[in-house]
Amino acid sequence: MLYLIGHKSIPLKQETISGKCNCCESINSVTVTVYQKYVFVFGLPFLPAGKTGISECSVCKQVLEEKGMPENIKSEYQQLKATARIPIWMFSGAIAFLLLYVYWQYQAKIHY
Ligand SMILES: [Zn+2]
Repeated sequence: MLYLIGHKSIPLKQETISGKCNCCESINSVTVTVYQKYVFVFGLPFLPAGKTGISECSVCKQVLEEKGMPENIKSEYQQLKATARIPIWMFSGAIAFLLLYVYWQYQAKIHY
């Protein structure tokens, strides 16, 4: 089924954190991933929405969402989130809409 309007998430940035896994105590086994949510209209990315993220341990496979992360993982996740930049193409729907609007205004001026 094709949705005309909805949202998707894509992984934006990933990093292995230097601390220990709080579950199995393995070192350098936890990676945090920042996801960027975006709204799409007619299958085109329209505007970015919020960022979300998870941490995952490659040894014990524990997956945590932001609210469940222990302090050491959460602080690294928040740093990564702060440096993860929103890709410009996520605004393409909004930019196209704006250009179309400007074009309509311009056309209206010519005819009247
Ligand atoms: Zn683990």
